[in-house]
Amino acid sequence: MQELMFLGLFVLALAIGWFLGRREAIKVGFMLQPHGSAVDKQYFIGLNYLLNEQPDEAIETFIRALEVNPETVETHIAIGKLFCQRGDVERAIKVHQNLLARPNLTPEQGDRVQLELARDYLAVGMHQRAERLLEELADSGSSLRAEALVDLVAAYEHQHEWREAIAVGERLLRERADFSVTLAQYHCELAARAVQRRETAEAQLHLRTALKVEPLCVRALIMSAELQVHGGDYKGAARLLQRLAEQAPDFVPEVLALAERCADNGALDLAEYLDQALERATKPVVSVVLARTRQIQREQGAASAERFLLQRLLVQPSLSGVHELLRLRGPASPETDPLPELLEALVRARPRYRCDSCGFTGSKLYWQCPSCQSWSTVKPLKGHELS
Ligand SMILES: [Zn+2]
Repeated sequence: MQELMFLGLFVLALAIGWFLGRREAIKVGFMLQPHGSAVDKQYFIGLNYLLNEQPDEAIETFIRALEVNPETVETHIAIGKLFCQRGDVERAIKVHQNLLARPNLTPEQGDRVQLELARDYLAVGMHQRAERLLEELADSGSSLRAEALVDLVAAYEHQHEWREAIAVGERLLRERADFSVTLAQYHCELAARAVQRRETAEAQLHLRTALKVEPLCVRALIMSAELQVHGGDYKGAARLLQRLAEQAPDFVPEVLALAERCADNGALDLAEYLDQALERATKPVVSVVLARTRQIQREQGAASAERFLLQRLLVQPSLSGVHELLRLRGPASPETDPLPELLEALVRARPRYRCDSCGFTGSKLYWQCPSCQSWSTVKPLKGHELS
């Protein structure tokens, strides 16, 4: 981080040096002055601070060396950003506020500074101020309108203000069609709150909206199926589970318990459901193989189950498959045979989910990645049971 900042400052110093040099050259008709001006002196003082590893003093000096005019606005914005990135947001706000007060900014430059100032406010938690600036930009015909909407929706999301986030998200959806994935998750968040309050009808309404916004929303499908099972509508739940198996077969392991309940109540043919899921998945998911094995054991006995599992294991070896095989071959006591326990420990130690966006892995399914904050990017890690 420190190295990056020094690199940034060094580039900035070069840019200022180039700008001053060019300006002086123009002033004297492309001839260098014999003695440097006051501004040049400031520049060399700043450079000296930089070389002595005194970045704060260097930045202050560089700012003094630069007058704000249309040519230097971008440099001032860059300085403000640098402050913000290194956590000195107060200074960033000062630089950006100072810029915004200048009467000679072009409308585009004014919008850019306003956006950066809003970002400074967000960085220090001054949400209301930031939201006011961003709303203004979003309502204007500015070319930064979409960027302002993205920041605004992120601000509401950060504060879990889902209704406001939805209102802004709907506007953003007109500019970015792929925002539907995130927007559907906001509706799911409202549904989750309604579930907590035991307001099932309201929750279902939010989930229906989520699926209207994004028909492939896995979370809305799973939550809806849970509500249906909870309300005793097993046929309705089975329809949703079938839809999940068709649209997102990799998530079938998440609904195995629901599928079993639907099957127990005569609404679903479990064997057929699991076979279809195994067929459709990009790579057979081991937990679905295990669920099918248990189903065969219940209906046809341990020997048939063992045959099925062994066949699958020969094609696709897995730790949890071997563990299941040992279980089928008879219970072993940990004293005489520690192998099943060791295998179980190995399987448990492996992550079960991974974020497609940043590579975060964990043992819990998050709808929003705790690392990169992306929505719907954490997926079951099919390889976790393979090794
Ligand atoms: Zn991530």
